[in-house]
Amino acid sequence: MRIGIGYDIHPLVKGRKLILGGVTIPFEKGLKGHSDADALYHAVTDALLGAIGNGDIGTYFSDTDPRWKGKDSAFFLTETMSLVEKGGYRVANVDTILILEEPRLSPYKCQMIENLARLLKIKPDDVNVKAKTNEKLGAIGRGEGIAAQAVVLLEKR
Ligand code: MG
Repeated sequence: MRIGIGYDIHPLVKGRKLILGGVTIPFEKGLKGHSDADALYHAVTDALLGAIGNGDIGTYFSDTDPRWKGKDSAFFLTETMSLVEKGGYRVANVDTILILEEPRLSPYKCQMIENLARLLKIKPDDVNVKAKTNEKLGAIGRGEGIAAQAVVLLEKR
């Protein structure tokens, strides 16, 4: 088995869609980034790359590469999953945390879990998405951004 950890953070700004775990969430602001800035997908992508010892998301999908401008981050996960499979592994389970003050994510968690399960080729029971506030502390506490953490476990196919 192999384990990997991932982390991501993006600033919240006006004039962008808020996309987390592949779900477009109605909110007055969205995450700023080169791609669609889906911090949850990015954290899970980094956790997968970590587990197979293959660097990080920037190694493969540089934020200066025009090919990835506005890109659906599901693409990064799909590409990374093919590296995982080529390495002879499959995902056992994934656990994640989203850290944000607003908006409330409970209505969207099920869809995020379904999206991750489909992309990672596992059952929804093997995906966990947690959301918590930063108790109003620091930049996240002031609503200036959203962070995500992920841990994945891989097993030999
Ligand atoms: Mg990112």
